[in-house]
Amino acid sequence: MTRIFFLGLGHMGGAMAANLVKAGFDVDGFDPNPAMLARAADTGVIALDTADGFATADVVMSSLPGPVQVASVGLEDDGLLEIVRPGTTWIDLSTNDLETARRLATHAAGKYVTLIDAPVSGGPEGAAAGTLSVYIGGPAEAVQKHWSIFEAIGATIDHLGDHGAGYVAKIAQVTLCYTQTITLIEALMLGVKGGVAPAKMLELIQNSAGSSYVADTYGPEIVAGTYDPSFSIHLAAKDMRLAMEMAASVGADLPFMARVAERYAETERRYGSAAPHLLAAQITETDNGHIFHEEQS
Ligand code: NAD
Repeated sequence: MTRIFFLGLGHMGGAMAANLVKAGFDVDGFDPNPAMLARAADTGVIALDTADGFATADVVMSSLPGPVQVASVGLEDDGLLEIVRPGTTWIDLSTNDLETARRLATHAAGKYVTLIDAPVSGGPEGAAAGTLSVYIGGPAEAVQKHWSIFEAIGATIDHLGDHGAGYVAKIAQVTLCYTQTITLIEALMLGVKGGVAPAKMLELIQNSAGSSYVADTYGPEIVAGTYDPSFSIHLAAKDMRLAMEMAASVGADLPFMARVAERYAETERRYGSAAPHLLAAQITETDNGHIFHEEQS
């Protein structure tokens, strides 16, 4: 049986590692956060207190906050690419950028390590249910060989091309969720300013041609002022920053998306990295003098 070493057992990684255990894989795991490590141990992951488990794995999987952590894990002198056995496959599930992907590929060349990028969509609920969408880039033979790993974590699985193709698809796809969030906030505000109660305005949107997953999932959190603490503004702002970097690198002119990226960056500046992503709404609420959750009738 394939021995997996799983690095990064946070909201997404912890749930994915648990599903790999359920599917019958031997999974060692590490996370520098002791609470995450303990939670993973409760699901059957063998919790290690260092990342040295790289050395004995057949497959290393990582679900890390972003490019900085992926580069640090992979490229440092004592990093993954130096330690793993020749023939190991590294599947990175993080939302990462193309520049880091290129640096990893250059460094991996000649080390007999196969790189697969497999970022995901579906949030912590999809990760827990094993129903994520998985966007895969990497050599076809290796992707096929490890298909059962992808089936253990995802329901919609697409192999899109060479290494990096998954990161591209993930970044392009995720921008829509954020642009819809900002436009939802503004549509709510327009109605509220005109005299419609926030909860009623949301209900009208949910039953209109503008209905969406974002309206159904994030709308109630915005209107209630709970702002969805399960996903931090740091990750949202990172996703939009990666999108704008990718737009520059491929030559795409996306002025509306640039405004959305700036709104997420401003939310992180105002409220701090650990704040919930939907605090983006509070900027609009404050600027317009209407705090939705204070206006419930
Ligand atoms: P998270 O912050 O909950 O988890 C990341 C984990 O990585 C943390 O537990 C942290 O302690 C750990 N970590 C940091 N540096 C590490 C290192 N050097 N070695 C080992 N572990 C390290 O984040 P998350 O929500 O689980 O997201 C993980 C990735 O999945 C991100 O790239 C994110 O953009 C992406 N993603 C998240 C969601 C979501 O809804 N949360 C959805 C799709 C994709």
